[in-house]
Amino acid sequence: MSLFQSVEMAPRDPILGLNEQFNADTNPQKVNLGVGVYYDDNGKLPLLECVQKAEKQMMEAPKARGYLPIDGIAAYDQAVRGLVFGADSEPVKSNRVATVQALGGTGGLKIGADFLHLVSPKSKVLISDPSWENHRALFSQAGFTVEAYPYYSAAKRGVDFDGMLTALNLAPEGTIVVLHACCHNPTGYDITPAQWDQVIAAVKSRKLVPFLDMAYQGFGQGIAEDGAVIGKFVASGQDFFVSTSFSKSFSLYGERVGALSVVCKDKDEAGRVLSQLKIMIRTNYSNPPTHGATVVTTVLTTPELRALWEKELAGMRVRIKQMREALVRKLKAAGVKEDMSFISQQIGMFSYSGLTKDQMVRLRSEFGVYGTDTGRMCVAALNSKNIDHVCASVAKVLS
Ligand code: PLP
Repeated sequence: MSLFQSVEMAPRDPILGLNEQFNADTNPQKVNLGVGVYYDDNGKLPLLECVQKAEKQMMEAPKARGYLPIDGIAAYDQAVRGLVFGADSEPVKSNRVATVQALGGTGGLKIGADFLHLVSPKSKVLISDPSWENHRALFSQAGFTVEAYPYYSAAKRGVDFDGMLTALNLAPEGTIVVLHACCHNPTGYDITPAQWDQVIAAVKSRKLVPFLDMAYQGFGQGIAEDGAVIGKFVASGQDFFVSTSFSKSFSLYGERVGALSVVCKDKDEAGRVLSQLKIMIRTNYSNPPTHGATVVTTVLTTPELRALWEKELAGMRVRIKQMREALVRKLKAAGVKEDMSFISQQIGMFSYSGLTKDQMVRLRSEFGVYGTDTGRMCVAALNSKNIDHVCASVAKVLS
């Protein structure tokens, strides 16, 4: 009998399945709004100028590629801490933040999940309902029972904040709560700063373990604005986790550049936590790769490249906002009777359009417009050439 005889076929990743369907579609007007990737107005994946300049500098002074330390490039970890917490912030100055370079935001989440399972194996994990699909899979794979707290309310066309807060207030001590720091994926709805204060107070009083997933810093309101929640958590005096991704903000999806930071009580605790995070890394992939993190370090630590990055990131953010506004305007012009102005109140890459599964299936099969069955569309994949077709198609399925 073969060892693999009883191995079952795993379900297909729904987004990748959608991509395959899109690639096979012969409709010349097809538009892929399924993936979470930013494209420019020509429908191209951008290669940022700041990245090109950093790479040019790196090529001019080529370096041998030895193994990196287990926790990655020290200057990278420092630059991440500076960006996420502020270089002059109290926790950074007190050396009580343990930061490790990770393989994208996913890698940061996974290292954090494995470490949490080591220190608190019986805890439950709460993710938002709905959430980025991989949250559930990743924490389950790490050995946790994963449940959800209410987040999106279709009836409200927004966040069911009372439901969210009630669930947090009922969660047993030690529950790990995964929170989207900004630009909630998939809904596009964030909670307000005042609501964050309430969440932080609930998490603190219930002694929950906050894990902030920051995959879109700079895509919402701005780098500082999107990161403001971190300062609020620091001010509340709790230990917490932050995963960082540069996949979107540097358009470096394939380089796998991210990080995990754990804010601890003091320097001694951070040292011990770091030593355990290093074991998680060592036993998984030994140490991280050099290229992407060197690019990001160069950009973040070279003032002129940093300014260029901030400008280019702002350009992506503004273009997404423009697409949201155009979507609202053009849907109305195409004859949609419903008030779709909620689309311009959402932030980040995605829009929960409110379309049903049947309508999304029709959009695909009749018009070649691909979003997920949940009604999620990637606004960052709209452009001045495809938006009219998308609006006309949505108008038809809504009529
Ligand atoms: N977290 C959220 C909420 C995301 O949407 C994504 C990517 O889509 C990630 C994490 C993972 O980012 P990365 O590609 O850097 O692993």
